[in-house]
Amino acid sequence: MQSISPEIIFRGNDAWEKALPQITYLTKRPLILGRSTYTNDLRNKILKDLKNKNINVNSTDLHFDCCYEDISRVKNIILSNNHDSVIAAGGGKVLDSGKYIADCLNIPCITVPLSASTCAGWTSLSNIYTKNGQFIKDVTLRSCPKILVFDHKFIQTAPSRTLASGIADALAKWYESSITSSTMDDGLVQQAIQISRVLRDQLLIDGGKAFKDESENNPSWRNIIEACGLTAGLVGGIGGEKCRTAAAHAIHNAITQIITPNQFLHGEIVGVGLLLQLRLEEMKNNNKLADQSIKQLLVLMKELNLPTTIAELGINVFENQNLDKIADFTCRDNSEIHFLPFEICKQDLSEVITNFEQQKIKI
Ligand SMILES: [Zn+2]
Repeated sequence: MQSISPEIIFRGNDAWEKALPQITYLTKRPLILGRSTYTNDLRNKILKDLKNKNINVNSTDLHFDCCYEDISRVKNIILSNNHDSVIAAGGGKVLDSGKYIADCLNIPCITVPLSASTCAGWTSLSNIYTKNGQFIKDVTLRSCPKILVFDHKFIQTAPSRTLASGIADALAKWYESSITSSTMDDGLVQQAIQISRVLRDQLLIDGGKAFKDESENNPSWRNIIEACGLTAGLVGGIGGEKCRTAAAHAIHNAITQIITPNQFLHGEIVGVGLLLQLRLEEMKNNNKLADQSIKQLLVLMKELNLPTTIAELGINVFENQNLDKIADFTCRDNSEIHFLPFEICKQDLSEVITNFEQQKIKI
């Protein structure tokens, strides 16, 4: 079974207003789920608009990342108040929590991404973390959200950092799916990889322009937010499980195991993982193009103020056995890193990270 896309998608300016009749038709007692104080005003607007349509709506905030503590608390709220849907309005972790909870309770989920940091508004996947932000696992849900509302006015209010993070995460689609799945004899997987290539080209060409002028009048901005929020989700939908994540996400998952005072966004960490994946491909798979790809990515990443080393994520790999911890978690038995078409062991990873962090290699 494969769920390719949300059932209904509203996109563009005023997507929320256009979606309202469909939402009020679908649900009479929704629960709005959110988290960040940045998005309070937008979530209040969503609440008010629904109340004005005589919808019996309530809202609650997550306290942490998409974690079991929050999930079970919100499930209880839904069950004791007879809510008949979840409206998840926020970034990736809010969207993932909403989708997961709705899936468990067999009620529809409406996703309203409030930044371009993620394609979680589209997909039928949720990443589960501890309440301190350490990655635990990803869960495949029965379906993509019932309704996705991708309102450009909402996205425009998000901090620039979220756009940069979304670009890094969407870039990973090509670098990860092409290395893990290009030998697969499955038409849809092949086509998903091709879409991710076009997606990468667009991000490389327009990503910087979008970041410099985040306005609806800027066609680069419109294209890039939809590339990150929609097209990246479509690649996952068409490619399915076979169009897999690889080292960049495996390294991301490992880096989240080390708790730092400042939390970094998913795509900010994935971007560093992507550079490290390319170094691994160079070292273990004799990929002569990897160095060029790194240089090309670094130009864009600098332009977007993205971190480009683990040190820039606030972690000194040479302290507290951090290098070991990252290498251990990345290479554990069920890690995505083993989807790479060549063997990777802990020593390979430690070597690449050590060189990378010491900047002995030219980047
Ligand atoms: Zn990701």
